[in-house]
Amino acid sequence: MEPPVGPSDPADPAVPAAAPPHSADAPKVLYLGGLGRSGTTLLDRLLGELPGAISLGEVVHLWERGVVGGERCGCGASFGDCAFWREVGQVAFGGWERVDIERLRALRAAVDRTRHIPALARRRLPAATRERVDAYVSYYVRLYRAVAEVSGARVLIDSSKQASLAGCLRWAAVTGAAGSAPGGAIDLRVLHVVRDSRGVAYSWTKKVRRPEAVTGGEEFMAQWSPAKAAAYWNAENGAFALFARRGVPTLRVRYEEFLRAPIESLRRIAEFAGLPGDDAAMAFLAADDDGSVTARLSANHTASGNPMRFQTGPVLLRRDEEWRTRLEPADRRRVTALTYPLLRRYGYLRGAPPPADPPNNKELRTPSPAPPASGRGSAST
Ligand SMILES: [Zn+2]
Repeated sequence: MEPPVGPSDPADPAVPAAAPPHSADAPKVLYLGGLGRSGTTLLDRLLGELPGAISLGEVVHLWERGVVGGERCGCGASFGDCAFWREVGQVAFGGWERVDIERLRALRAAVDRTRHIPALARRRLPAATRERVDAYVSYYVRLYRAVAEVSGARVLIDSSKQASLAGCLRWAAVTGAAGSAPGGAIDLRVLHVVRDSRGVAYSWTKKVRRPEAVTGGEEFMAQWSPAKAAAYWNAENGAFALFARRGVPTLRVRYEEFLRAPIESLRRIAEFAGLPGDDAAMAFLAADDDGSVTARLSANHTASGNPMRFQTGPVLLRRDEEWRTRLEPADRRRVTALTYPLLRRYGYLRGAPPPADPPNNKELRTPSPAPPASGRGSAST
């Protein structure tokens, strides 16, 4: 067993001092970023339980899987039959059928791709690129505004994860999308969720059924080789660090660290997102005598995401450490080598203290609790 060795200093201030200016009615969007299989769906669901927040799932997939494919919403209804999304579509676009999906696809291909991340991270964009980015993010801005209006929520949780979309949204947050008031069309904050690359790579090798599919036959989530997962893990995590350096307010959280102290961690994330983190807000979380924490999850309208978005009722928050015994030793060595610099930076390697964070990119750190005595403790491996 090789538990991740991480910093256990007292908490750092979680909220970066300077957030980009935005117009007063700009919807607050908490964007959950990181590579898939890092725990973003669970975090999306937990944050969505806080008063004033709403879980949207992976909005990036809403267009193809919801609007076009009619897949199931987190509430169980098909996207077209979900009253919440019908109303959002009406307010945002005068009905989903009026969204020009072909144009959206073309814009996405032109700007929202991993290969465009270096261009999106520049301080200035060429005029033609800026025009395409503005046109693309205008769909998201209209959707976010409509969600805020229909739900009454103050903070929208979008767990799209992909760095390239965050890189596009950054331009809506900095100076406003086309047709919007200058000063920022959205108030964008990023919760950068990191999980040990070996655990992520193992998870990508597993065959997972997609319960939301409506094709009648069985559908499965994508499977990647460990080397491919390692390459994307580097690219996605590196990109979020880059955007943080460009001024996007970012809080990085290690998924394992979050599960070690879920209540304390959620409080800190709530503070970062501008959500309440008091005992009443956290009442859906219950700590057991052995230190484990159970969350009571309610129904939601997540548009897409990991199958756990359909789960409601009590959910025990515990670490999934299966990879430590199930990932082939050769794959483990390969992934460790391929992701070594960031694994070290995030404190996943024994004996390698992580370097200090740059000022705009804080990591969530919680004091070390006493180890759980026994039983189904969330930190046991
Ligand atoms: Zn729904």
